[in-house]
Amino acid sequence: MSGETSHLHLDGIPSDRLRQVQKYLKPFHLSRKKLREISTRLWTDMIRGLGKRTHNKAAVKMLPTFVRATPDGTEKGDFLALDLGGTNFRVLHVRVVEEEQRVLKVSQHAIPKKIMLGTGEQLFNHIATRLGDFVDSQNLKGQTLPLGFTFSFPCEQKEIDKSILIRWTKGFNCSGVEGKDVVKLLKEAIQRKEDYDIGSVAMVNDTVGTMMSCGYRDQSCEIGMIIGTGTNACYMEEMKNVKRVEGEDGRMCINTEWGGFGDDGSLRNILTKFDVQVDKMSINPGVHTFEKMISGMYLGEIVRLLLVKLTEDKLLFNGQMSEALRTKDKFQTKFISEIEEEDNGLENGEKILTELGLKWDPVDVRVVRLVCDTISSRSARLCGAALATIANRIRTYRRLDHLKTTVGVDGTVYRKHPNFSEELQVTVRLLAPECSITFLVSEDGSGKGAAMVAAVAERLSRGQ
Ligand code: BGC
Ligand code: MG
Repeated sequence: MSGETSHLHLDGIPSDRLRQVQKYLKPFHLSRKKLREISTRLWTDMIRGLGKRTHNKAAVKMLPTFVRATPDGTEKGDFLALDLGGTNFRVLHVRVVEEEQRVLKVSQHAIPKKIMLGTGEQLFNHIATRLGDFVDSQNLKGQTLPLGFTFSFPCEQKEIDKSILIRWTKGFNCSGVEGKDVVKLLKEAIQRKEDYDIGSVAMVNDTVGTMMSCGYRDQSCEIGMIIGTGTNACYMEEMKNVKRVEGEDGRMCINTEWGGFGDDGSLRNILTKFDVQVDKMSINPGVHTFEKMISGMYLGEIVRLLLVKLTEDKLLFNGQMSEALRTKDKFQTKFISEIEEEDNGLENGEKILTELGLKWDPVDVRVVRLVCDTISSRSARLCGAALATIANRIRTYRRLDHLKTTVGVDGTVYRKHPNFSEELQVTVRLLAPECSITFLVSEDGSGKGAAMVAAVAERLSRGQ
């Protein structure tokens, strides 16, 4: 990263056209200075979120998770896990033995849109039914296995098994759940079925699950990060800094909910008019500002809106729009990864543009690739800046000259994009030069991790 934009795909676009297109893309380029400012702002907001009196108004919520210990390798047993929060809903049967979490069986279901936008009762009935089918198929009826529940939304957690939904994010908006204890709603739905029982419930955010599942492989894993449909991170904080929970000793995992960064207007100076438009058209306008610049639910839309503008201004497709390009969500986030692929990107781009009903020439395809590149790079750098803030914070309060730590990561954007992780890491190194960070991609993290949290809770309750 020598110049600010040298990593972008500029080749094959005549200089005059490039100059014009760059005018539209310029607001998306974040200089090192800007990235530093963003990191500093997040630092302040994290402190605000942790504070007893400042918490209520904080954009970055810094939620206590009641996860105080990472796995120590002695956990064992059979567990159920539920994973709700992305595009799919999953049920897992996990066996923890000898430093290993074995997924014995998993079933995966799409959540119908009707249910995502229906009532809470419908949602939890749906979950309880699927769980019941699973318990049945695994011959687990009559047993009461502890259950780890990964619920990937911001929750005010009171205990490991009491967790109040603050608000829905991503595509969900079920009525009658915000402000309620989600564990209770789940247990009630299971009771209504009068068909099977579960043991104790441990509820976790997906970032926490991801951190915990990697923690089993690498005990220095003390940060979890998701860059998928939504984005978020958690990390192990010193108890003495967690002012809202009694106790000074040891550490507790904090769910930062960094997706809400900027909700108080603090990112106004980097928001583009396209970001503002994406927010307006979302089902939760005004909230999760940072997430809407970064995560998979929104990246495709930002690109689409830019392509529409460039077409209207005759810088693409000879000024010829298509119906699909005008339609919300028709430009999927996965197209960005496909178009930026090293070897077949341009070819993929041609196919995608044709499918979107557009008449392109070879320069158009390169301009589209540059747009994709600009948007995914901004996302990666913003994430990098935020992660650097967390790493710097851990290093500072542990009074270390040098911090060596591991981040457990998951999410489709991080996994599927050809150079997202690389750009993210470059930014972290730039902004947190005294930290060496290992990135561990979590396999099935939110499912296994939930089982791990349940297992750690079991171990601690046995007093071990
Ligand atoms: C939610 C977080 C979650 C993240 C990643 C966000 O929308 O608020 O709780 O961790 O998505 O799934
Ligand atoms: Mg997930």
